[in-house]
Parts: sequence; structure tokens; C-alpha cells
Amino acid sequence: MIKEHVDVLIIGAGPSGTVAASYLKKHGFSVKIIEKENFPRYTVGESLIPRCMDNFEEAGLLTCLKKQNYQVKIGARFIRNGVEGNFDFSEKFGEGWDWTWQVPRDHFDNVLAEECQKNGVSIEFATKVENIEFSASEKVVVTTLKNNIKEKYQGRFIIDASGPGRVLAKQLNLEAAPKTAIHSSIFTQVKDSNRPTGKEGELITFDIIENEVWFWYIPFSNGNTSIGFVGKKEWFQKFSPNTSEAFTQMLPDTKKYYPQFKDLDFNFEPIKVNNIAKNVTKFYGDDFVLTGNSAEFLDPVFSSGVSFATESGLLAAKLCAKQLNGEKVDWQKGYVDYMQEGVEVFSTYVKEWYTGNLQEIILHQKPTPEIKQQICAVLAGYVWNKNNPFVRNHKKMIPLLAKLIKSEKSTFAN
Ligand SMILES: Cc1cc2nc3c(=O)[nH]c(=O)nc-3n(C[C@H](O)[C@H](O)[C@H](O)COP(=O)(O)OP(=O)(O)OC[C@H]3O[C@@H](n4cnc5c(N)ncnc54)[C@H](O)[C@@H]3O)c2cc1C
Repeated sequence: MIKEHVDVLIIGAGPSGTVAASYLKKHGFSVKIIEKENFPRYTVGESLIPRCMDNFEEAGLLTCLKKQNYQVKIGARFIRNGVEGNFDFSEKFGEGWDWTWQVPRDHFDNVLAEECQKNGVSIEFATKVENIEFSASEKVVVTTLKNNIKEKYQGRFIIDASGPGRVLAKQLNLEAAPKTAIHSSIFTQVKDSNRPTGKEGELITFDIIENEVWFWYIPFSNGNTSIGFVGKKEWFQKFSPNTSEAFTQMLPDTKKYYPQFKDLDFNFEPIKVNNIAKNVTKFYGDDFVLTGNSAEFLDPVFSSGVSFATESGLLAAKLCAKQLNGEKVDWQKGYVDYMQEGVEVFSTYVKEWYTGNLQEIILHQKPTPEIKQQICAVLAGYVWNKNNPFVRNHKKMIPLLAKLIKSEKSTFAN
């Protein structure tokens, strides 16, 4: 028996699911989110980029976030062997937000979920989607499990925003080869009692250990700091299989942050995630769409995850609203092609980061201001702005510029 009928069922109350739910509710649809965990729940992905602010604003979720006093993020710093490259979003090319936040996601996602509930979205927590059936008569029927009790919900459309749960990707066998190289990660949080005051203690920093290995420092306004390593599988094999021991063994590799963290306890046992990059063969069907990480994830290096999750959640919600209102929707053009345009730009930057070309550019000590502003706009997430040559010609520009910098360096060295 069906427990409840709604217009739209959404799997997952992460940023992709709540942005989609909020938009749909505002536009008059009945929405139910089914969320596996009890909130607040920990999740990784704490450094945002400015583009997501547009999405939260349009979904009606920015005001509640602005009240939370999260650490403001105005840019990012990259370090390799003591050489620094600093990006300030206020200097980026083109329009758009020039700041965002660095957020403890348990708190942040809970604020978003509570705001959705306040606005009439129904959320079923601690309830796992186990199966989805599609039929012409009932459209979508979802079977859930809560406290060992199975229940069924029916919707006219379903948005899978289940992140790494990848509910539909698994059920419909949609897994595809990722677009970027496969890396793993290990991360935790600490009570940052040695944090320096001022900007030094607030700036998100990426400390490059090797071309394909880096450390992140993401300080929060609550006094905790997120720390983590990303690298190739082979690098992780050098360390203990026990994640606490491994993290302790890795810490001296970040020369800048080792003194700050060497004596601190971890807030929780470090978590290891293998093979971060994900992709699917199909992003939509007649009555469903995959958004956020349930569809695709590239790499954490430029903190693009939440921005893509909210961009896709919002766009999917808009198209879903049109379809439910009886309009014809071209999901390929309106959703997949648009999202892939942005993903392609970012995947070039991720690939070129790991070839070392982008590191060369970011750490160049005498950058041309105009070029730096254009790259900064990409790092802020404005990857659909074709007026930016570093968006329009992303594949050519990065290797070309890196080549020029290297040849300039070798000329001066000789
Ligand atoms: C190591 C690492 C570092 C990262 N760093 C960053 C970063 O700095 N910045 C950034 O923007 N992104 C980062 N990301 C990516 C970021 O975590 C994700 O892009 C973002 O959380 C995706 O949002 P989402 O809403 O798609 O999914 P999620 O936030 O994962 O939410 C999905 C929700 O679905 C629920 N769910 C799953 N399965 C089911 C089920 N069967 N039934 C019901 N509910 C279900 C989950 O409990 C969860 O609450 C990082 C990722 C990794 C792996």
C-alpha cells in the first residue's frame, strides 16, 4: 500500500536535494525528501566556491545560511615548497559572487534541511531508499526501509540526489568510467587550538606535496579545522592500513602545517575514501533525473562539488517543474549538455592540475593580472562564461601558458 503520494520524490537531503526541493516547493509542487541518515550527520565537502551562492539564492536558501556566522572564504591559497599562489575572488574576471563560506557540513546541511521543512517540504529522515519502480500508471514508486519497516511512496517524478549512495546508478547499472584520474583521500577534523590569528588562520590552503598528492587546510568559525590528504592509490600504500596511524604518518609531509597539528587529537577516526571520481552513462529518463554526486564527481582539488551539486539540483528542479506543468522538456539539451559544458571546463583544470601545468601557472610569481583574473573566475565556479578565454579555450590555454612559463624560467636560468 502506498503511504503517501507527492508530485516529486527526492532521494537525499544534501545540498543538491534541498536546493531542488526548495525550488519545487516554492513553485507549488508537493515534495518529499527521503534521507537515509538522521541529521545533523557528518559529510565531507566543506570548502565552497562562489558560484553556489547564486544557486542557494535562487532556491530561496541563502538568507538562512547568512545567519550562521560561517567562516567567510574570500579566495584560496596554494603552496608548494614554500612558494605561494594566492587567489582573491574579488579580483576575478566577469560578474558573480566574490565570496562564499567554508562550512562544517553537518551543521550546514542541517540548516538547509530545516529551512526546507519550515517552507513545507516533508523530509523522512533515517529512511533508506531501497528500490524504485517505474510504470506508466503509477510513474514512480519508491520502497523505503525505516526501523526495519518497509514503506512505499509514490511520485510523478523522482530526483536522485543520493550523492555517494548512487541509488539509481546502482539500480539501473549506469556506472561509467570517470572523466578524471582516480584518486583517494583521507580526512578528519581537529580542534585547532594552535590556529594562528588573522588571515593566516582563516585562509583555505592547499599544500602540494607531490604533483599528485596534496593536503587541505579548511578552518571553520567554530574553532575546528578540516584536514585531509588526496593522492594516488600508490601513495596511500606507503602508510599503515589503520587510518589514525596513517594520518599521523602522513602529517610530516605537510611541512607548513605539521607543527600546527602534530600534537592535536583527531575529532574522529580519519575516514578514507578510495576512488573518488564517479560518472554515469545516463543522467535522466522519462520520470527521473540524477543530480549532484549521484551523477558525477571529478575531484576535490578545486572544491567544485557543492557548486555542481546545487547547479544540477536547481536546473533539474526547473525542468521537472516544466515537465509536470505539461510543457515539453528537452533534458539532453537543457540539462545534460549544459551541465557537461561546465564539467568539461573543470575536468580540464583538474587534469592539468595533476599534470603539473596548472600548478606551474598558479604558483608563477609574476602573473599577468588579466590572465590571473580569468583563471580566478574559473576557480570561483563561473565555468559557463564564454566571454572568459580560459573558459572558451580551456583545453588549449592551460598547456600553452604553462609552456610559456617553463620556457621563460629556463631562459632566465641559462
Ligand atoms: C575527499 C572529498 C573531499 C571533498 N571536498 C569538497 C570540497 O572541499 N568542496 C566541495 O564543494 N565539495 C567537496 N567534495 C564533494 C562534496 O562532498 C559533494 O560534491 C557534495 O556533498 C555533493 O552533494 P550532494 O547533495 O550531491 O550529495 P551529498 O551531500 O552526499 O548528500 C547525499 C545524501 O543522500 C543520502 N542518501 C544516500 N543514499 C541514500 C538512500 N539509499 N536513501 C536515502 N538517502 C540516501 C545521504 O545520506 C546524503 O545525506 C569532496 C568530496 C570528497 C570525496
